[in-house]
Amino acid sequence: MSIAEEEIKKFEKDNCAQDEVFYQAMEEVIYSIAPLLESDAKYMRHAILERLVVPDRIIKFKVVWLDDKQNIMVNTGYRVQFNNSLGPYKGGLRFHPTVNEGILKFLGFEQILKNSLTGLPIGGGKGGSDFDPKGKSDFEVMKFCSAFMTELHKYIGSRIDIPAGDIGVGSREIGYLFGEYKKITSTYEGVLTGKPFMFGGSLMRPEATGYGAVYFTETMLEMEGKEPLKGKICTVSGAGNVALHAIEKLYQIGAVPVTCSDSSGTIYDKRGVDLALLKELKLEKRTSLADYMNSHREAIYIPTSEYPEGGHAVWNIECYAAFPCATQNELTEIDAQNLISNGCISVTEGANMPSTPEAIDAFLSHKVCFAPGKAANAGGVAVSEFEMSQNASMSKWSFEKVDAKLKETMQQIAKRVSLTAKDYGVEGNYVDGANIAGFKRVADAMIAEGI
Ligand code: NDP
Repeated sequence: MSIAEEEIKKFEKDNCAQDEVFYQAMEEVIYSIAPLLESDAKYMRHAILERLVVPDRIIKFKVVWLDDKQNIMVNTGYRVQFNNSLGPYKGGLRFHPTVNEGILKFLGFEQILKNSLTGLPIGGGKGGSDFDPKGKSDFEVMKFCSAFMTELHKYIGSRIDIPAGDIGVGSREIGYLFGEYKKITSTYEGVLTGKPFMFGGSLMRPEATGYGAVYFTETMLEMEGKEPLKGKICTVSGAGNVALHAIEKLYQIGAVPVTCSDSSGTIYDKRGVDLALLKELKLEKRTSLADYMNSHREAIYIPTSEYPEGGHAVWNIECYAAFPCATQNELTEIDAQNLISNGCISVTEGANMPSTPEAIDAFLSHKVCFAPGKAANAGGVAVSEFEMSQNASMSKWSFEKVDAKLKETMQQIAKRVSLTAKDYGVEGNYVDGANIAGFKRVADAMIAEGI
């Protein structure tokens, strides 16, 4: 039995059904880092894997709030403080009905390696709630955020744990959470990132993840000797923060993004999607993508319910480069085969783990340039760290300064990942390169800090 198989067997028994997605993320990492474990015995001697896959602590709490009709509502809140070897716990909050402990463990585990890859002093964590902001009034969202922070504030702090946004948590939610933290603690500190600019947010934080994914792709394509994105058709899934800003950056560099999607359906607009309209529908009115058709009858709308099971309409559209930016496991093996047969040469994960393991295997075996989320979407957390620096020094950086630092960070990550893959005999495999480089930095810190 190989080292990787032995390690995976050890963890199998400890994981419950909710942990399926966490197990998927962990298994990928263990297989990837096997060459490192085999070449340097110190990682096994210090039991790094056993220590790394168990969070430092999981905080679970009840959130009780009143809706607009004065009904008493009850949700569950979580914060998974996973590993703080490289710096304070750092990672987003997700508000979505599917949130459970297993999903947050998967996201927190990925976050440790992602944050490590940035080279910045930040540890890994994640949190959230099964609360669904969709369809709620601003007042209801505010009341939920206040109730959530009433409990969470005990465990976070600008040198302890600094949450940010994720699915369902944008600047509106971060604003309400920050307001409540300030009220309870009488402390004005950078305890959350992704704050609105007027009270401590960084310029470019909303854009950072989407822009960063495009910067990463450009560097990867150049290193792999492929043609740049300029003038090329691109497909993007999702219509939230990451997707819309990936679309924006693609337009800025002269590419043509022709799709986007939400949980109800996919828009295909072959002349290029109308970004201003998408922002209005999704960021201001918070409505369904189906409303896009009221202004663009020549576009195509494919409702999710009308597409065959096992695949997703957005990945059946011809493109040069694809950007999955919605959620985990949204790109299956069937989707990967469709992309490959339609001539797609590059896939960049803007979301966290959007591709299933079978889809990743298909991309790697067909030599598609594949940028895994923990490397390609690290721009968001990088700019969050820039926000922490600005808060700590009570300063404000210009848009140009943040953008230049973001671009440099993404280029460095891409180069580090590519070089690591080469060093460990898996040239061109950015999945293994990212896992080994991310793991090594955390593991070395854990060894240096002792048990
Ligand atoms: P948003 O909430 O802004 O947008 C999420 C988008 O994905 C929405 O369009 C949503 O559609 C769609 N979506 C969510 N769940 C599903 C589903 N089950 N099926 C189909 N579509 C779905 O989130 P973000 O853009 O912030 O996050 C997107 C991804 O990027 C997540 O994986 C997140 O973890 C990751 N990420 C985000 C970062 C950030 O800075 N925000 C940083 C790094 C990673 P609908 O509106 O219908 O729900």
